[in-house]
Amino acid sequence: MNTQPHLQNFHDDEFSKRLIEKLKGIETRYSNVWKERKRRRGERRRALRGELNNLEKEWVYVKRLLHSHFRPLILKRDGYKCRVCGSSEKLELARLFWDSLALLCRPPQEQMLLKYSGPYRTPEERYSEKNMFTLCKKCHIRFDSFHGRRWRMGPKAISSVEEAVEVLRNKYFLEDPPYLIEHWKKYKEEIIRTELLILVNALGKVAAFKQQNDLKKARRHLGVARRQLTFYLKNGFLEQNQYEQFMRKLQLVRVVLDSGGRFDEILDEIRRGVLEAVRTKVSPDFL
Ligand SMILES: [Zn+2]
Repeated sequence: MNTQPHLQNFHDDEFSKRLIEKLKGIETRYSNVWKERKRRRGERRRALRGELNNLEKEWVYVKRLLHSHFRPLILKRDGYKCRVCGSSEKLELARLFWDSLALLCRPPQEQMLLKYSGPYRTPEERYSEKNMFTLCKKCHIRFDSFHGRRWRMGPKAISSVEEAVEVLRNKYFLEDPPYLIEHWKKYKEEIIRTELLILVNALGKVAAFKQQNDLKKARRHLGVARRQLTFYLKNGFLEQNQYEQFMRKLQLVRVVLDSGGRFDEILDEIRRGVLEAVRTKVSPDFL
């Protein structure tokens, strides 16, 4: 029996090497087809959609093979214990970096703006021994949860397993607004930027759907904007009185929406007002 704590010849075996090469090939093809599809119209465009679907199926299949190949190796390396809580029940293979086909098709500067995503990582990085670790089901769910994901996005996201374990060990990190703690500083601007984008997008959609006369969808995006404002209040981006002022304006938009008037100016006031209010909370050169 091999009692070495570290994996031996982890990537030396032909099997995993071949699979990782295959995954890389699929991702390159996927991103090329995706780009071509954007330029095409009609029949050709539909055909390329089909090709993307097939590539995605292949991609998922290869990932599944890699997962079952690495799971026993990583669990063994970690001594069949969750790296966070030490439990030996329901152990799972956790990976530090996301993979998403949508992500790899975006230009690098946009990858950071996608919700909860970091930059695109190559299959070698994603399946590197140092970027995989053992978690129990409970800890894995926390790692992939709404709060857990906040630590994994943007250019300053968690970048090592050790860091991930440290964050997960401290329950406080995941259950309370991260701005309360020292580590928040490292991620703050990135998180605020992403959160503000959600509001700006929602306000834009309210106006867009109003123009298309789809009031139901316009109202839905008003709801998104309201939830964002509440999130900003809870996380200290806005003061109570600012929050109430913006909520009143959103309420006004709702009334105008129902009565069929114009509200572009109010939306603009909200947008500018929130950005200004948040700007004073962070460094002056932010945004
Ligand atoms: Zn655990």
